[in-house]
Amino acid sequence: MGKIICTSYSRLRDYKMCPLKFYHKFILKDCPERPESDAIRFGSYVHKAIEDYIQGNAELPKGLIRIKDVVQSVRDAGCSSLLAEPPYAVDKNWEPCSSRDWDHAWLRTKIDLLARWPRQMIYIDWKTGKPSNSDNFQLVVAAAIMAQWHPEVDQIHCCFFYTQTMKKSKTVIVHRASVPAIMKVVTDKSKDIEYRMMQGDWPATPNYTCKYCEVARDQCEYRR
Ligand code: SF4
Repeated sequence: MGKIICTSYSRLRDYKMCPLKFYHKFILKDCPERPESDAIRFGSYVHKAIEDYIQGNAELPKGLIRIKDVVQSVRDAGCSSLLAEPPYAVDKNWEPCSSRDWDHAWLRTKIDLLARWPRQMIYIDWKTGKPSNSDNFQLVVAAAIMAQWHPEVDQIHCCFFYTQTMKKSKTVIVHRASVPAIMKVVTDKSKDIEYRMMQGDWPATPNYTCKYCEVARDQCEYRR
């Protein structure tokens, strides 16, 4: 296959959920344009506000003021650096590359908050939705990408933080020894996608997201 399917956790999640949806959204790119939802707009607003705060460019808005405590607790733990939204990418062989390297970047992520110590990192992903919509697969895939960039790091502690309730999810610790298994799961998934591209076989898999699905009604019989 000449074409690189430059992908991300969210694309893999869509593929896992429904190959037909993935096909229209990311291969054909022919889903009808829709106005941005309030939830997406709110999520972008929260992420940008926290990013600006961590970078020292702005104070937090009133509704997010308690994020200060979260950021401060990480700073107090003595990290050597604290970054908001650093981009990471790897090529198809899981070698680090620039996320703007359009010819090679194959899997990419952006880390909402990343704190580093010599052999450990903390990764926090801000969530503006409900805890039930979170999926640890996002955390471990991002951790595997970061592990490729930072070979000196032994452990990456990852969690979601829910900005509506100011509660943290259970922490997932990704040890270096488990990174190859995570890479294999993602690589196998990408092989599935390549196989489907050759076969032209993109089955519809009805699920709870059908009522919000981006595909048009005439592209899928299950679109409600
Ligand atoms: S409506 Fe449901 S079954 Fe159809 S493409 Fe979307 S997610 Fe898949």
